[in-house]
Amino acid sequence: MLALSANGVLPKADYAIFADTGWEPRAVYDHLDRLEREIAAPAGIPVLRVSSGNIRQDALDPAHRFASMPLYILNQDGKQGMTRRQCTGEYKIKPIKRQVRGLLGYPYPQRIPRDVFVEQWVGISTDEFHRAKDADVRYMRNRHPLIDLGWSRSDCLRYLTSVGFADTPKSSCLGCPFHGNAQWRHIRDTSPDEWQDVVAFDAAIRAGNARANASGNPLLGEAFLHRSRVPLSQAPIDHVTAAEWAARQDALPDTDPEEWERGVVDGCSPWACRGEADAALTRDDVGLAS
Ligand code: SF4
Repeated sequence: MLALSANGVLPKADYAIFADTGWEPRAVYDHLDRLEREIAAPAGIPVLRVSSGNIRQDALDPAHRFASMPLYILNQDGKQGMTRRQCTGEYKIKPIKRQVRGLLGYPYPQRIPRDVFVEQWVGISTDEFHRAKDADVRYMRNRHPLIDLGWSRSDCLRYLTSVGFADTPKSSCLGCPFHGNAQWRHIRDTSPDEWQDVVAFDAAIRAGNARANASGNPLLGEAFLHRSRVPLSQAPIDHVTAAEWAARQDALPDTDPEEWERGVVDGCSPWACRGEADAALTRDDVGLAS
């Protein structure tokens, strides 16, 4: 959408906002720098990078209140579960709303008049139109320009290729538990230091997040980044044949081969994530309009 706006296909945006969890892959930060330098700056569109902190550091810091990631849990009795997903709300939605309020001139807790709002573009393509939603506050009105253009994901990829951005990486935390095996393998096979980083994080959260442990609320079980609930360094992330997959079905009841390979389809987008309803945010947390 930024390129479309810079190139005059869409109207010129006033700002582009990137919510930085502090733990994106290096390729994403490099891509963002390039996008800013080659597309946004020449078009006069400021890219605002907003943040609520570093999700990796916060998870491991006993002194920091942590908005939990959706970790896979193996309970002591062998039952499986997941921790609530609060990270999208804390690390993406909250800093974006704070920035938008600032741009409008009504920082929290000021009341925003009824007729003051931004038009916010959300980059959802036609193949995922079911994720397009209205904003949950009056001071933001969502629009979905890619859907208005009738563009699918492959239309977007074709356009990105035509403007020299064929290798646009997917944005998400390096160690997001929603990764599928393809993403885990990509990290392992292309970026050894980032693989070490996620393996070390996976080991460090085995007993849950640091603050919960320090405050006497330890996890009664073990937490994992990979959905097999096996330490990431040993998890079955290699590509399997159909026969191997069929042989695994007994051991892995929760089996959708496509999802194991590609990850959770509705991954992490601030405005279209499947965990939005779980984002345990209070009005004070995010400064919602009253
Ligand atoms: S990418 Fe994953 S870990 Fe990061 S904020 Fe989104 S859901 Fe949470």
